Amino acid sequence: MRMEYDRIVNTTTWSAGPGCHGGCGAKLYVKDGRVVKVEGDENHPWNFGRGCSRLLAMTQYMYHPERILWPLKRVGPRGDGNFARISWDEAYDLIEENFNKIKENYGAKAVIFIQGTGRDIGGPMSLVAYNYGSPNWSQLGLGGQACYGPRLGAMSCIQGDTSVADCSQFFEKRFDDPRYRLPNYIVVWGQDPTRGCPDGFYGNWIIDCMKRGSKLIVVDPRQNFLTSRAEHHLQLRPGTDGALALGMLGAIIENGWYNKEFVEKWCLGFEELAERAREYPLDRVASITWVPKEQILAAAKAYALASPGSAIQWGLPIDQAPDGVIVAQAINDLWAITGNIDVPGGNVIARNAYHVSAYPFDNYQLADMYGDDFVEQVVQKRIGSDEYGWLRKWRCYIQPDVAVRQMLTQNPYPIKATWIQTANPVANAADMRLHYEALRAMDFNVVIDLFHNPTTMSVADVILPAATFAERTGFRAWFQPVQIISPAVNVGECRNDWEIAMDMAQRFNPELKKRYPNGIKDYMDWRLEPTGMTYADLQARGGWKWGDEEGSAWVPYKRYERGVLRADGKPGFRTPSGKVELKSSQNAEWGATGVTRVDPLPYYQEPFESEMSTPDLFKKYPLIMVTGRRSAVFFHSEHRNIPWLRECDPHPDVEIHPSVARDLKLENGEWVWIENERGRIRRKVKINAGIHPKTVSVLHGWWLPETEGRAPNLFSAWDVNCNVLVPTGAQSRTGYGGNAYKTTLVRLVKMHDGSPAAPPVSVWGRG
Ligand code: SF4
Repeated sequence: MRMEYDRIVNTTTWSAGPGCHGGCGAKLYVKDGRVVKVEGDENHPWNFGRGCSRLLAMTQYMYHPERILWPLKRVGPRGDGNFARISWDEAYDLIEENFNKIKENYGAKAVIFIQGTGRDIGGPMSLVAYNYGSPNWSQLGLGGQACYGPRLGAMSCIQGDTSVADCSQFFEKRFDDPRYRLPNYIVVWGQDPTRGCPDGFYGNWIIDCMKRGSKLIVVDPRQNFLTSRAEHHLQLRPGTDGALALGMLGAIIENGWYNKEFVEKWCLGFEELAERAREYPLDRVASITWVPKEQILAAAKAYALASPGSAIQWGLPIDQAPDGVIVAQAINDLWAITGNIDVPGGNVIARNAYHVSAYPFDNYQLADMYGDDFVEQVVQKRIGSDEYGWLRKWRCYIQPDVAVRQMLTQNPYPIKATWIQTANPVANAADMRLHYEALRAMDFNVVIDLFHNPTTMSVADVILPAATFAERTGFRAWFQPVQIISPAVNVGECRNDWEIAMDMAQRFNPELKKRYPNGIKDYMDWRLEPTGMTYADLQARGGWKWGDEEGSAWVPYKRYERGVLRADGKPGFRTPSGKVELKSSQNAEWGATGVTRVDPLPYYQEPFESEMSTPDLFKKYPLIMVTGRRSAVFFHSEHRNIPWLRECDPHPDVEIHPSVARDLKLENGEWVWIENERGRIRRKVKINAGIHPKTVSVLHGWWLPETEGRAPNLFSAWDVNCNVLVPTGAQSRTGYGGNAYKTTLVRLVKMHDGSPAAPPVSVWGRG
């Protein structure tokens, strides 16, 4: 039967809904003021009509019977789930009154502004935090700040710019653009892009390249779709990515497979790097990584001899290796010495079109928005900046492991409240119990979200209902093209995250009203100025604009030769020396101002918990729990309550190798305890011969919306969420990277009492 609709709205996705780091073009079919169908936009050069299951399930997400549709205030003790409906004005008044009281008594820095992953919220988050006067903008719960930040920091130090695998995404004609060349090899390192939604990268682009002839080298402890099609699969021990990268560097340098012309002309520190790599002969690397040296050598040779013109696409395990920045540095050095920086089919430099960005990522952009004095103030007071020079010199976030500690100790200064937006720290933070206690210790917590979850239920005092991408305006430029988000409908009283932040920022700082009298509309038009267009102009021309001006800094290739990367217009890279710094002066300088010195050259650090570093602990807990594998239907802790998605992945499971199942007499589908010193959780056994026998693999972010939400049960988060077992506070010397999400030691214990059988999975209204 042909579906009825009144109109189609073409828009761009950027979270509040699918969990986007990307910007798929989407079509929203509207009938009688309701979105009745969502699908990818076949005319959009980002995704060519594709999307993900979470996008296709948006109608269930938007019209879920348990969606929060108006502001709420807590009326009973925290955790008992009693909330009363209030108006937006009452909600804003309550927040303003409580936050201003805290500012009076403890100073604005006593409030921490918490976001989830770096999707669309960063701009509004910084706006409300800085206009309230707090320096403390955070991804609280993200142990070691171990998500993209370490890779971005390493690239900033080594080559002065971000790079991504070149899948033609910088050209509107994509693969048909005459300037573009397909990668010979794509090294997919610690990522399952077809299931996740990587930063500014559409996972299926890898498939598009494979269909056209690119070959794969995959680095992953677990077999998956891509490993089954790879020419080389390096199934390494979790957390040993640094050793593998140094082994490959050593093999390439020793055999002369590197790009001598590029190294001599554009690199600094090659001899020191070569000397460091000599400390990692392949015998040693093989024993550290569990990967036979022949496989490492073959993969290094294939990649290097097919360069320039091969690319590395990397993921989170690099950030979460013991010293994420240093591991990222070693991998950046791999594509540098093989001459793959900013060449067709290589690791193309990723500049946003027209240098438009939705928000300030680093101190330079912050200074651009608020002035140097303001940045100096913020940097001095930012939590963790006394310990980590990187926090003073680079990124705007506070150090989350230091922050949670300060929330509990109130030292060196009191923390009294939080603003939590697009985050569910009680179900996502490393060491969930510690973060639960820290948030419970706050005088006042504001949560902006779409559904009740373990965080809203346990710590929220005021809840503000957020809009999905289909209900809001917005824009994104990550990296190409500049795209706008166009609303199709309203649902309840839900509001745009950006609007909520702007409203409160203007309440905290009425001067802001003069700068943006029309609120978010003015903010967006201001940020879009470099395109020469306003939001309305972009909407009128179809919703996006590709930055393709020949010779500009956002159009590939070899921009380092054209003098468009450096501020002074000279050829070279945006590094202190203007060269690619294989031995990073920036890292050393930033690190030198912290408590712990940072080595300017890459090295390998053994995981905090392992057979080598904690042999006694390993005797008790001999399995390495790898958390965070990607699900095609869930994004972090989201989507467990969406029926179409939940039926695809109904139970929190644990993947174990057949030999482990045999040894522990475990059957597929039976429940088992996973435990270590920090507690225990229950998971459903899923036997998978594609993982290493010494590891178990679990999805993070689990809670069960179909179970009791009130404390102490909190939707069974304590029962099934792997972050009960994952520590926090294991960050790297830079404060960026590390933690033990991929390397926590555990054991499996058979459930002899055969309980608790999981309740039936019905997540559509628990009436
Ligand atoms: S694939 Fe990524 S960008 Fe596209 S809709 Fe899904 S989550 Fe969003």
